[in-house]
Amino acid sequence: MPPDNNASVSSIAVLLQSIEESSSDPSFVKDISQWIDALIEENKSTRTPCISFASPFANYFDESFLNISYFVIVDKLPSPEHPLFEEFIKKNNLGGITYRDTYFLLDENKDDLQYHFHELVHVLQWNILGDESFILKYFQEIKKHGYENSPIEKVALELVNLFAQKEEVNNLAYYVESRLRLST
Ligand SMILES: [Zn+2]
Repeated sequence: MPPDNNASVSSIAVLLQSIEESSSDPSFVKDISQWIDALIEENKSTRTPCISFASPFANYFDESFLNISYFVIVDKLPSPEHPLFEEFIKKNNLGGITYRDTYFLLDENKDDLQYHFHELVHVLQWNILGDESFILKYFQEIKKHGYENSPIEKVALELVNLFAQKEEVNNLAYYVESRLRLST
């Protein structure tokens, strides 16, 4: 499908306006958290533990972390019924999305380890920050820096590049945590 510039400009406006409204609305994060509770409950018996990637990710993620992180392969990425998430997924043409300890990948990306790696970095960030801080920080960063330059995304993109080049990363979890502390 050819790009529709008018549509993408208006969706950016909706996204930004929606971030402003959401950040000042105390029920926003609570509603999203409850939606995530239900989503995870719904997928609990069918989601796959990431320990299945213990071997390819041995130099990057601890087995204890992979044991409590999960993925689900889907035809459509799940989204709360909120314009912030719906516009975000559509606008960035996402191939995967993380909610707390579980990420969802489109079927076409299921065999691509780089997608799994990228979303696992987000699971780690989400573990460190918790629902409220992760959600607000994530969208505030995107508003301030744009999607690819937002610190949360940048760390994931950088680490995936190192993985793709088979470069070892010493204490990845600590690195991710210190980068979260550095960014505002
Ligand atoms: Zn990402």
